[in-house]
Amino acid sequence: MSVAEIFQSMAYGPAPESAAPAQEWLEAHAPALPLFINNRMVTPREATYFDSVNPATGQPLIKVAQAGTADVEDAVRAAREALKDWKRTPGHLRARYLYGLARQVQKHARLLAVLESMDNGKPIRESRDIDIPLVARHFYHHAGWAQLMDEEFPGHEPVGVVGAIIPWNFPLLMLAWKVAPALATGNTVVLKPAEFTSLTAILFCELAQRAGLPPGVLNVVTGDGQTGALLVEHPGVDKIAFTGSTEVGRLIRRATAGSGKRLSLELGGKSPFVVFDDADLDSVVEGVVDAIWFNQGQVCCAGSRLLVQEGVAPRLLERLRARMEHLRVGDPLDKAIDIGAIVAPVQLEKIRRLVEQGRAEGATPWQPSWACPTDGYFFPPTLFTDVAPASTIAQVEIFGPVIAAMTFRTKSEAVALANNTPYGLAASVWSENINMALDVARAIKAGTVWINSTNLFDAASGFGGYRESGFGREGGREGLHEYLREPWEAQGTEAAGSETLPLAANGHGEAPSSGVDATATAPLAEADGARGNGHSSDELPPLGLPAIDRTPKMFIGGKQARPDSGYSRTVLAPDGRYLGEVGEGNRKDIRNAVEAAHAASGWATATAHNRAQILYYIAENLSTRGQEFAARLATMTGQPLAEAERELEATIERLFCYGGWADKYDGSVHATPLRGLTIAAHEPIGVMGLICDDRQPLLGFVSLVAPAIAMGNTVVAVPSERYPLAATDLYQVFETSDLPPGVVNIVTGARETLARVLAEHDDVDAVWYAGPDSGARQVELASAGNMKRTWMLNRPPRDWRDPAQGQGRSFLREATQVKNIWVPYGD
Ligand code: NDP
Repeated sequence: MSVAEIFQSMAYGPAPESAAPAQEWLEAHAPALPLFINNRMVTPREATYFDSVNPATGQPLIKVAQAGTADVEDAVRAAREALKDWKRTPGHLRARYLYGLARQVQKHARLLAVLESMDNGKPIRESRDIDIPLVARHFYHHAGWAQLMDEEFPGHEPVGVVGAIIPWNFPLLMLAWKVAPALATGNTVVLKPAEFTSLTAILFCELAQRAGLPPGVLNVVTGDGQTGALLVEHPGVDKIAFTGSTEVGRLIRRATAGSGKRLSLELGGKSPFVVFDDADLDSVVEGVVDAIWFNQGQVCCAGSRLLVQEGVAPRLLERLRARMEHLRVGDPLDKAIDIGAIVAPVQLEKIRRLVEQGRAEGATPWQPSWACPTDGYFFPPTLFTDVAPASTIAQVEIFGPVIAAMTFRTKSEAVALANNTPYGLAASVWSENINMALDVARAIKAGTVWINSTNLFDAASGFGGYRESGFGREGGREGLHEYLREPWEAQGTEAAGSETLPLAANGHGEAPSSGVDATATAPLAEADGARGNGHSSDELPPLGLPAIDRTPKMFIGGKQARPDSGYSRTVLAPDGRYLGEVGEGNRKDIRNAVEAAHAASGWATATAHNRAQILYYIAENLSTRGQEFAARLATMTGQPLAEAERELEATIERLFCYGGWADKYDGSVHATPLRGLTIAAHEPIGVMGLICDDRQPLLGFVSLVAPAIAMGNTVVAVPSERYPLAATDLYQVFETSDLPPGVVNIVTGARETLARVLAEHDDVDAVWYAGPDSGARQVELASAGNMKRTWMLNRPPRDWRDPAQGQGRSFLREATQVKNIWVPYGD
C-alpha cells in the first residue's frame, strides 16, 4: 500500500496488547477462583462453579465459585465482626488504607485493565485509559473523605454492613464506586460481582491483602443472581447498594421493603442526546461515538436516543454514517479498535431481538458495510432513523451499540421528547448557545446533564438517577450520605425508640393505625351515639374555650373539597368526647390532589426568595391565630394547654427555619478534572406524598410539609389520622398566606389506605412516611411500581420537638435531587 493510499484510507495495522501477564494470573489460579472472606481466599462450602468466558473468543477463562447460603452467611458474619473495629478506626487510618488501595490499583493497572478486557470484552483503550484510572481516582478521592470525616460529618456513624451488588458493564469501576465510599465512612462490605465478570474483583481482593486491609472489612462472594438475592435477604446486612437493571432493582426494593435496610439503586436509562442546529456538528459526531459506542453501548447512561433539530438532521446523519463506516469492531486487546465484544450471548441475543423489533415496528436501521468478526460475540454499530417516539427502540433500554434518531423543531419539543421516558439518568445537550443549553439542562429530568460533552465521570461528582433510573447518588459529598447515619440516629435507636418517646406531654401512646383502632373509624351511628350520650362538644367547652364542632373539608387545588366517598370520620378526644369530623378520603381524592399538585408545578420555578416569603407569611398568620390552634391541640390530644402552646411555638419556628433554608440550600461546583464547571444543582423532586404520624400533630405535619415546599415540591399531605383537626385548620392559614393553589393539598382519612394509594400512584415522585413499621413496609413495597423515592421516618419514630430529629439538612436532602451539569469551556 502506498503512502498516498494509507493517507486516503487512514487504515492502520493491529496493535495488540499482550495478554501474557493476565494469562499467567489465570493459570496461577486455575482451575477455579476462590471467594474472599475475612481476608482469606476460600473455596465455597459447596463446590459449585461456573465458567467465566472471554466474550471475544467464546472460550472459557477460568471457573468462578457460586457462593451459597453458608458462604454468604460467613461473609456477612465476617463483615459484622470487622465492623466493630473498622467504624472506630480513626479517619486518618482509614484514609491510609484507601490510599494504599489506590496505590495498589495504580501499580497493577495494566494487569487489571487486560484482565477486565478479557473478561468483559471492552476495548483495552477504555479499560486502560478510563475504567482503571477512574478506579484509582475513586479510592484517592475517598481516602480524602475518610481523612475529613470527623471535620465534615461530626457525630455521623456508618450505616453498618453494606451488601454491594454490581453489574458486568464496568466490573471494577462499579466495585470502586461502592467499596470506596463505604469503607471511607466506616462501613464494611460484602460485594457480589456480576456472574459474567468476577475476575478483577478477586484480583482486587489480592491487592487489598497487600494493602493490609483488616480482615472482614471487604468480602467478595461470587455467584449469580441467587447469591445476590441471599445477600439482599440477609438480616445481617444494613444497606444494599445496587447497580443493574430496573427489573432487578424493583425486586430488591420489594425484598427489602419494611426491613429497615437502607437502599440505593442505580438503574437503567434511555438517555437523550440532544443536538440543536447551532451545534458544532463535527464535535457532535465524536460525541455520539462516545455516547453510544463507548463500552459497546453497554452503559447505563448511554446516549441512546439521538434527538436532532430538524434543519441539521440530514447533514448530521450523513456525517455520522461516514464516521460509523470507519469504526473498528474487533479484538478488545487490539489498541486500535473502537468497539469490543458484547459481554455474553444472552445480551447479544437481546440486542438482536430489539433491533429486529425496531425494524418490524417501521424504523430504518443502518449499519456499516463491513462485517464483524464471527469468533466472539460482536454486534455492529447501528443507527435507526424513522423512529416513532413511542416505539420499543425509543423507549426500552437496549444496552448495546444501537442508537435511535428522532427529530424536533423547537426547544420545548426537544425537552418534551427528552423527558418522554420513565428513566432519568443522564442527558447530553449540544449547542453553541450556552444560555439555551443550560436552560434545557435544567428542564430535562435527569441526574446528570453534559453540555457539549458526554459520558464524563469523576469521583468528586455524584452520579445517579431521577425517576425509574433509581435513587441515591454515588460519588462526591452527595454520595457519602448514602453510607452515613445522622448523629441523632447514631446515638442509638434505644434513646429515641418508639416506646420511650411520649406522644405528647400526657404520655399517650401512638394511636394504632386504621383498621385496628375502632374509635378512629367509628361509624356515624356510634359518633351520634356519643353525642346522644351527652358527650356533645357543646356541653364540654374545653378549657373554657368555644366548642369545636365544625366539619373541616379536605384541601385540594387551593379549594376546600368534600370527600368523594361522601363519608366522614369522627374525631374524638382522648377521653372519648366528640370533637368533630373530617372527610374520609379515598383513591379519587388522592388522584384529584395529585393532579392539583402537578398543576402547581410552577412552584418549582418560583424564586427561592418567593418561597421563603410565603413560608414566613404562613408562620405570621399562624401566629395571629395561635391561641385558637393551641386550644385545638390541647383539646384534641389531651395535653395541657402550656404544652400545646409550646408545640405551636415550635411549629412557627419550624416554618421560620425552612423560610430561612429556602434560599440557602445551595448546590456546589465540584472539583472534577474537567476544564470547565461541574455544577451540582439541587432540584425539587416533584410531587411528594407526605404521611404524618400522630405525634405532635401540628408540628409533625409542618415538619414534613415545610421542607418539601421550601425546596419547590408540591405535596399531597395526609395529616395525623387520629388528630387531623390541627392540620385541616391550617388550610385557612394557607389561604391567607399567598400560597398558590395546589402547592399543599390535604387529604384526611385512614393513614394506611391513603399511604398505599400515594405509594402506588405513578405520578407521585416521592413518599415520606411517618407511621408504624407495617405501614412502612407497605409503602416501600408499593413504591416499586415507578421506583419512587421513599423516606421512612419511623425508624425510630421521631420526636418532632427535637430539632435534631425534626428538621434540618436531612429533610432538605430528601426533598431534593442533585443534578450535575457538566459545562466544559475554552476554545
Ligand atoms: P441485573 O440487574 O440482573 O444484574 C445486576 C446484578 O444483580 C448482578 O450482579 C446480578 O447477578 C444481580 N442479581 C440478579 N438477580 C438478582 C436478584 N434477584 N437479587 C439480587 N441480585 C440479583 O442485570 P443483568 O446482568 O441480568 O442484565 C440484564 C439487563 O439489565 C441488561 O440487558 C441491561 O439492559 C440491564 N443492565 C443495566 C445496567 C445499568 O447499569 N443500568 C447494568 C447491567 C445491566 P448476575 O450477574 O449473576 O445475574
